Amino acid sequence: MRVLVLGGTSEASKLAGLLAGQSGISSILSFAGRTKAIRPPQIPYRIGGFGGVDGLNAYLEAERIDVLVDATHPFAGQISRHAAIAAARAKIPLAVLSRPAWVAQPGDHWIDVAGMAAAAAALGHERKRVFLTIGRLQIGAFAAAPQHFYLIRTIEPLALLAGLPRHRVIHGRGPFALEAEEKLLREESIDVVVSKNSGGEAAFAKVRAARHLGLPVVMVARPQQASGPVLHDPAEVMALLLHHCSTLTPRGV
Ligand code: NAP
Repeated sequence: MRVLVLGGTSEASKLAGLLAGQSGISSILSFAGRTKAIRPPQIPYRIGGFGGVDGLNAYLEAERIDVLVDATHPFAGQISRHAAIAAARAKIPLAVLSRPAWVAQPGDHWIDVAGMAAAAAALGHERKRVFLTIGRLQIGAFAAAPQHFYLIRTIEPLALLAGLPRHRVIHGRGPFALEAEEKLLREESIDVVVSKNSGGEAAFAKVRAARHLGLPVVMVARPQQASGPVLHDPAEVMALLLHHCSTLTPRGV
């Protein structure tokens, strides 16, 4: 059986670890190529977009893929939509692996917003020191609120942000430790944290740190998920794949 895993997440990498060396399953992990320093997985991999839904369908056909796993980030809405359409067209099963969203706990002071423009507006008129941890692609939305100072943390280096006159970029890749996050927020005199509701443990320490320090978090909600069942655990996906593998009639037979 041949499996294509759409990745770019720690869950996809964990699934790749489970797939490595599985007899009867030949798998490939796909990265978009956003991060230059990828951590090579334990299974074969490819890098780069497919060229839209048609390109993905052509790939599924050319590689004779039997099952598609969408293990992309909850905020990667486009590739998830493409995966759903392409799997339906190719008449192959699609498994969605996605971490659950974070839920506010007592002591949290979240300002829930639907997108980045709303997040920028939610910071208010008064100047603040903002810890911006939303990746690098949507930072431009905060040019609408240039009065604030932004401490921006990204994995990859950033080009100069002309729209944000007061900012500093630091680099970091999760998992982050709670103590270090608290220290950073304190030392930088941060007033408010902006985060995507990504879910998972690796990036959660900043939310806990904000709770401990009594700081508000502007929490950006996930884009609408593709319909259909979503699994949260790579082991569950692995079990599903093994079950499917045991029932599959090889393609072309
Ligand atoms: P996106 O907006 O949903 O996708 C944009 C385009 O990138 C897709 O149409 C596709 O190009 C290509 N693409 C995305 N994921 C791919 C994959 N795994 N393999 C091959 N091509 C892929 O996605 P995004 O928000 O830019 O995220 C890009 C990647 O980074 C995703 O794989 C995601 O898992 C990972 N990531 C995203 C975030 C986030 O906050 N968005 C955070 C952490 C990791 P074509 O149309 O040409 O096929």
